[in-house]
Amino acid sequence: MKFDFSPFDAVLLDLDGTVYYEDHPLPGAVDLITRLQGMGKKFALVSNSTSSPARVIKRMTPMGMIVPAENIYTAGAAAVDYVVERFAKSPGGPRVYNLATGGVQSMLEGRANIVDDDSGPCDAVIIGAPANIYATPDRQRMALFLIRNGALAVGVCADRIYPSPRGLEFGSGALTLMLAYAANVRPVYVGKPEKTFFQALCRHLPADPTRCVLIGDNLESDIGGARAMGMKAILTLGGVTRRQDLDNLPIGQQPDLVINDLRDLL
Ligand SMILES: [Mg+2]
Repeated sequence: MKFDFSPFDAVLLDLDGTVYYEDHPLPGAVDLITRLQGMGKKFALVSNSTSSPARVIKRMTPMGMIVPAENIYTAGAAAVDYVVERFAKSPGGPRVYNLATGGVQSMLEGRANIVDDDSGPCDAVIIGAPANIYATPDRQRMALFLIRNGALAVGVCADRIYPSPRGLEFGSGALTLMLAYAANVRPVYVGKPEKTFFQALCRHLPADPTRCVLIGDNLESDIGGARAMGMKAILTLGGVTRRQDLDNLPIGQQPDLVINDLRDLL
């Protein structure tokens, strides 16, 4: 391997735009994951998606990447971990309204009391992107009511937009801010680049953040998040960032290494 991973306890690999794009793996991804597994290196695949690790596995298997759930950490999983921990002492357990996805719903089952209406107390609302089936206009109104009555607004991530085959979609951050504005509250965000996300992941691994290296395609959520945790940060140009985006970036925010795609590490 060209890049020396030996000084690092764990490797964090972003998924969308780094490992895969839509339904195909990006160059070097299958090889890199196979080699990390062969070396017995601790690694985590990370994503701001609201999917469950189980759904990510279903998506990656046809691409030739067989990875167990314990190697995958999504913002959806982190949001569920966050509310379950924060409201562990609520009477009868955490009471949570899901304004996100089926993935979040399945991860809440058995770990929280899923709130469905305004008949009882609610500790938190988990907010995903508005195009999801659990975020219908009726459910958005219910979420607004619950947040106005004291439920914590928890955005799966602060992403403003995300690309889709139809063009650009409103991200989790956009719906979270809309609800928080309407309810006049401050929301909490959980996904990358939040410290909450990386701290929870490092506890799961376990790994010391300063002994981790992250490889990602997004300057804000990947490189910025990693640097704030004291991790080494490698930027791949195979996703959303172009080389000229680095021109006006202050030294303190520059990645430690820039690669064209994952093949440059092999
Ligand atoms: Mg990405």
